[in-house]
Amino acid sequence: KLIYNEDPTKNIDCEVRKNIVRPIVTYNNISKSYGDLQVLKNIDLEIAPGEKVALIGPSGSGKTTLARLLMTLEEPTSGTIEVEGEMLWHQRVNDKLIKANEKHLHQVRGNIGMVFQHFNLFPHMTILRNVMEAPRNVLGLSKEEAKERAVKMLEQVGLSSKIDAYPAQLSGGQKQRVAIARALVMRPKVMLFDEPTSALDPELVGEVLEVIKAIASEGEMAMLLITHEMDFAKDVADRILFFDQGRIIEQGPPKKIFNNPESERLQTFLSRFN
Ligand code: ADP
Repeated sequence: KLIYNEDPTKNIDCEVRKNIVRPIVTYNNISKSYGDLQVLKNIDLEIAPGEKVALIGPSGSGKTTLARLLMTLEEPTSGTIEVEGEMLWHQRVNDKLIKANEKHLHQVRGNIGMVFQHFNLFPHMTILRNVMEAPRNVLGLSKEEAKERAVKMLEQVGLSSKIDAYPAQLSGGQKQRVAIARALVMRPKVMLFDEPTSALDPELVGEVLEVIKAIASEGEMAMLLITHEMDFAKDVADRILFFDQGRIIEQGPPKKIFNNPESERLQTFLSRFN
């Protein structure tokens, strides 16, 4: 399996390398400030197709902001982001970033799925309808096609028996699994998970992590996982990024990060989980 960090093509001329393995996501020198607060500081990050990257670090270190930029929910203060080599943001004119045109953005965003801490399911729709909605309205699939896809996805997250239930009838863990099915049904190339279990009761965390692990093991999708579950990160990720104060302080394969952390900040951070 490709681990981007240890990619043997790393030292090959960048143009040549792009043809060998083009990153699915590239952050180029991204900075983001809210007023005087600089939340991200010159972030460079490439994610390879199929690569699973876990972001760990103290809260407030900028992890969610990094994910929100990729979803175009926020604008970078400087720098660019590419998805499959397509810019999400174009050049700056009079200090304002010019977005790629809406149609183009829509296409690029279609490759990205996101699961947040809070699952915003439509309360008045059945589970099946919740999962069918975007394939119908965004991808324009027929009702039959959308239903077939949605049923398969719900099977994959272990909720076949709940397709006619309403969100209020499900546990938090089940709702989060529906939210995962709803994102996956769009067949994104990149999935973002932003602390998908941190709003759940402890006894419901395991079932959601298991579903994410199973999806990860299928391999095709790149994943960016923001998590405080260190064992989970260790199991699932090809690469761990340790964030602190808006910077990537240290990164590497899980073994290296957890068994052999170099920076004092990472050592201190990890000691809280022991
Ligand atoms: P993390 O995900 O690592 O907890 P965040 O990316 O959520 O970190 O937040 C980083 C910092 O940016 C925090 O100090 C947070 O308060 C601040 N921040 C996030 N969003 C906004 C916003 N919309 N306006 C002002 N400050 C924000």
